[in-house]
Amino acid sequence: MSSQSTGLRHWRQRFNALFQDHEIFIRTHGHVRFLRISALLQKRAALIAAAVLLVWAGVTLAILVSQLLGSEERAAVAKQQAAASAAEARIAKYRDSVAETAADLAERQDQLDQWSQDSFGVQPAAATDGANADAPAAPVPLKTSAIDPSLPPEAQALARLEARQEAFAGRLLVAVNDRAAKAESAVTKLGLNPADLVRNAAAGRGGPFIPYRGKMGKAKALGPSFAALEGALFRMEVLERTLVAVPSGNPANVMMLSSSYGYRHDPFTGASAMHSGLDFPGPLGTPILAAAPGKVVFVGQRSGYGNVVEVDHGQGILTRYAHLSGFTAKVGTQVAAGEQIAKMGSTGRSTGSHLHFEVRLNGVAVNPRRFLEAKADVLEVKADARQRVGSVASAAR
Ligand SMILES: [Zn+2]
Repeated sequence: MSSQSTGLRHWRQRFNALFQDHEIFIRTHGHVRFLRISALLQKRAALIAAAVLLVWAGVTLAILVSQLLGSEERAAVAKQQAAASAAEARIAKYRDSVAETAADLAERQDQLDQWSQDSFGVQPAAATDGANADAPAAPVPLKTSAIDPSLPPEAQALARLEARQEAFAGRLLVAVNDRAAKAESAVTKLGLNPADLVRNAAAGRGGPFIPYRGKMGKAKALGPSFAALEGALFRMEVLERTLVAVPSGNPANVMMLSSSYGYRHDPFTGASAMHSGLDFPGPLGTPILAAAPGKVVFVGQRSGYGNVVEVDHGQGILTRYAHLSGFTAKVGTQVAAGEQIAKMGSTGRSTGSHLHFEVRLNGVAVNPRRFLEAKADVLEVKADARQRVGSVASAAR
């Protein structure tokens, strides 16, 4: 016999000892009744009670456990949801910043395209084909070290694009500054003050007509490199358009009296008087040519000058052709440099057939010699400028 079965028998004996046969006497109204509760009945009742208790306890425990599990699950789900919404917020924030960066890049690209169109008459893609030596060329190695390696791949792609854009803007700035420097040098050689020209143009006083001047200052929001580029483009535009407007073409195919500008003896009064132009003696009817491209703004008589044609070249520059015998252009006509506008004559205060040629800068007569005797280097820059301004004009059409 094992000790286990011995122990079991021991417990059974103790259990049996709890239940003894009981006999209960109940006296009611003098009668005595006898009630017998056997040990077996007691055991059964005790077992049933124990079973009920057990079932109740089990059910209660099950409910409790299920509730506990439920709350744990709910907590887990809530935790998951919180994590998910946090991740969603992070993603949304990231997506927002990517979208913002992309929109910013697109806006900058639009500005570059617009400048390229305004200033060179071409889109940036066409500007790099080598046809235009002044256009920026050759890809520049990107400063990839500046790109944060911890950024997500899409953000890195945008950062690389931004670096390329900055590099392009930088190359464009160098090219534009280079052109502006050449124009500045040429303009200075013609006796004009480049700083004054740019300042007057920016203030809108008798400066060149710059088609996009009204939009100036917009690029500031796109960053310092774009603001610098905008300033450089404006400067280049002013100087080159001035150069194009300079009347350096011969107004008649005859020799000029190079000493005729300035104070001299008036042929009529003999007194010293200011002669505000250059004289070109020649046969009656010699073709008179526009000294620069421009618009005919006056055809008619002026006191002392006789028959006069005036051409506005923009940039505050006007040429006047006097003592004419006839006109071949009308007011409002757009004329090219070297295009005939009149015929030589001797009308007004004239002693013989000649052309009186005047150049006016913002209403003040200046000696035309500096324009007519422009050196080859200046004329080369001028021709370059004319080509660029012309390409812009034709692209705008
Ligand atoms: Zn004269």
